[in-house]
Amino acid sequence: MYIEKKNNIFKKCSFCETEKEINKIITNKNISICKKCIYIFNKFIKKENNKFFFDTNKYKPLYIKKKLDKYIIEQDEAKKILSTTIYNHYKILNNNIKKNNTNIKSNILIIGPTGSGKTLLIKSIEKILNIPIAIADATSLTEAGYVGEDVENIIQRLLEKCNFDKKKTEKGIIFIDEIDKIAKKSKNISITRDVSGEGVQQALLKIIEGTISYVPPKGGRKHPQQEFIKINTKNILFICAGTFNGINKIIKKRIYKNNEIGFHAKYIKKKTNLYKKIEQEDLIKFGLIPEFIGRLPIITKINKLNIKSLRNILTEPKNSIISYYKYLFKLENINLKFTENSLKEIAYKAYKKKTGARGLKNILENVLKEIMYLVPSKKNIKKIIINKNIIKKKIIPKEIL
Ligand code: ADP
Repeated sequence: MYIEKKNNIFKKCSFCETEKEINKIITNKNISICKKCIYIFNKFIKKENNKFFFDTNKYKPLYIKKKLDKYIIEQDEAKKILSTTIYNHYKILNNNIKKNNTNIKSNILIIGPTGSGKTLLIKSIEKILNIPIAIADATSLTEAGYVGEDVENIIQRLLEKCNFDKKKTEKGIIFIDEIDKIAKKSKNISITRDVSGEGVQQALLKIIEGTISYVPPKGGRKHPQQEFIKINTKNILFICAGTFNGINKIIKKRIYKNNEIGFHAKYIKKKTNLYKKIEQEDLIKFGLIPEFIGRLPIITKINKLNIKSLRNILTEPKNSIISYYKYLFKLENINLKFTENSLKEIAYKAYKKKTGARGLKNILENVLKEIMYLVPSKKNIKKIIINKNIIKKKIIPKEIL
């Protein structure tokens, strides 16, 4: 394809058939197109791309789970539950089955420690299935009228994500992280929480149940003269997540109280397994109001990552952390290698940090930053091997010295 630039020459657009100056037309052999037609086609393509349809014939739960396996290590239960729930949700929407009762909407609550893949799961679903998902953090939310982020802003975020397409927004997903931080204050457990927790829960409850939310178009704050976009939140799927630190104690207490000690002794011994025994009443004790929990009928858990899982996260997922650094060094024509023991050491260090997989990147960055600083100025380095000692003592590999 070429653009003729000679002045005073006119060509005919093959589409709108009007004659255009040569600088307003692109020609390729026998076909020409003017800039105006390109603009119209672009607008059309953008609109088409913006249309959202979840193909339940293609995206079956098994298919979704397999795709998620490429990005997320472990967490099989959560992967299966998310895959099935999302599939069912869109199957109902696609078939236009009228829900007499909005209670049916299967919103999800994910419980599990920090840095174990909760947000990654949601981001991967967004990428794999191309569903519009707005991600919000409950810690910044406040009741309307208070300083902070209005709960309705979450809807606005989803609308923005959907390029202000109302229909697409009404079929999207909203992910709210740190939901445990809006629990009511309770005397029973010593966790500092937002005082306005209950008010925020009530406000969230409204949009989760289904309401008409008035969202200002193209962002900005609400003001009386403004025209709002009316968003019905009835079919928006909500996924909430939180670490619920301290809930173990509540579960344990309930189990003891109910005299189930013998039967559940193994769960009490193995602290992590206690999550398996979680019941709605534990979440109420924690400080979530019963109506709110009632709207999150599906509860799934994310497990704490052990050293082996952390080791696997380094190399196994698509776009893994190690592959990122290898690529970076390859751009310098250097083959960056890690011994198995070095990978285990990184995993061990991250495990000790207690921040899940979040620590992995930080540990690597700390080890590699000096190397990355020196390497571009060095010549004839073809290969760098990172061994356990380099990770442990943060020393510079001999190849660079
Ligand atoms: P959280 O559970 O607190 O939402 P994230 O999902 O944000 O944690 O995880 C932080 C980072 O750690 C991710 O971006 C990813 O690189 C890594 N990570 C955490 N868990 C996993 C996992 N199960 N598989 C692969 N990578 C993970």
